Amino acid sequence: MSQIHVLVINCGSSSVKFSIINTRSGEAVLTGLAERLLSNKASFTLHYQQQSEHFSLQAPYDHQAAVAALVQQLSKLELLEILSAVGHRVVHGGEQFCQPALITKEVKQAIADLSRLAPLHNPANLTGIHAAEKALGHLPQVAVFDTAFHQSMPKKAYLYGLPYALYQEHAIRKYGFHGSSHSFVAGQAANFIGKPASQCSFISAHLGNGCSITAIQAGQSVDSSMGFTPLEGVVMGSRSGDVDPGIIFHLIEHLAYSPEQVHQLLNKDSGLLGLSGLSNDCRELEQAAFQQGNHRAKLALEIFCYRIAKYIAALCAGLTSLDGLIFTGGIGENSSYVREQIINQLSLLNFHLDQDKNRETRFGKSDDISTPSSRYALVIPTNEEGVIASQSVQVLQEAI
Ligand code: ADP
Repeated sequence: MSQIHVLVINCGSSSVKFSIINTRSGEAVLTGLAERLLSNKASFTLHYQQQSEHFSLQAPYDHQAAVAALVQQLSKLELLEILSAVGHRVVHGGEQFCQPALITKEVKQAIADLSRLAPLHNPANLTGIHAAEKALGHLPQVAVFDTAFHQSMPKKAYLYGLPYALYQEHAIRKYGFHGSSHSFVAGQAANFIGKPASQCSFISAHLGNGCSITAIQAGQSVDSSMGFTPLEGVVMGSRSGDVDPGIIFHLIEHLAYSPEQVHQLLNKDSGLLGLSGLSNDCRELEQAAFQQGNHRAKLALEIFCYRIAKYIAALCAGLTSLDGLIFTGGIGENSSYVREQIINQLSLLNFHLDQDKNRETRFGKSDDISTPSSRYALVIPTNEEGVIASQSVQVLQEAI
């Protein structure tokens, strides 16, 4: 079969990220972003063949306008005709979707119904699907779910210590997210260490703006740090991760917080941003901590790393063996400081860092940063768009 190109769309509440992936090579032919949608500062950026195009979007500044602008650009670049499918990242697939799905009326209805579990994400994903159908209706559209990879978690891992009826009647359970990333890096890590994925066990740490840790045995997720929503787990850029639920009652009963204010506090004002009072961006905090001696920035990074190490150790309980640890995402792939702090915290689990390799590991390159006597500590660049594209092609081939 010749080259297959898939347009991958990742639609957030105020942005549309897109790329065209060549599924033979896994490479991105074109990438871009429409951001600040629904405001009059909406802009559009596209990168293609070492050239960049940047312009302000015209009213109505919405997702539909962003996708229309994208189609116009693709037409100008004569790229529309190379596309075979559109792959959509969809955050929540609930218990219905443990695989990607060809988008039909029923699938769209299911994604809409699942909005009650992901009110910030699924409606935005659905907007992207509608916009792409309108502009590129001749192409098959595929939904790839962030939660699907974690549907292999056993009940003991995904149920909370809450009344069982809440699970049965309201689907309240742990789902786990970043599934495309965790499954991809686990596959790459197995290749790296030269073992079949079916015989490998890893803990993968996806550390970006959102962060999650997953225990993966024989290529399957057995437990993960994110839960019913992406708020559970480790400290993130602006999300708190785990807190004592008693704090929420205290905020409401004694400090007059409304539910909306608690939501804002835990999702937008906490994490690295809330701790440092400076930024949610790891790179900026490292600069502030180590070049300007900012103590709060250093403390925020210390807490971030400690909580990740603690989760890695806890998630080992879900595994019967452990080959190694995987770092991925913007922070995992780039921050030698964060990797060092985490690995140094885990010497009891026989993780030991090779300082030179850690410093030398560059963006976009897979490497082992452990000493010879250590378990593997791997840095593996993620490729969520590549996974969405290849899974989209797989769905189409199965549908033929
Ligand atoms: P998203 O979750 O939005 O996809 P990314 O995976 O791109 O985010 O990760 C963004 C994070 O990666 C930011 O906190 C950023 O500061 C961090 N990052 C990127 N490059 C570096 C670097 N060289 N050193 C430290 N942190 C970095």
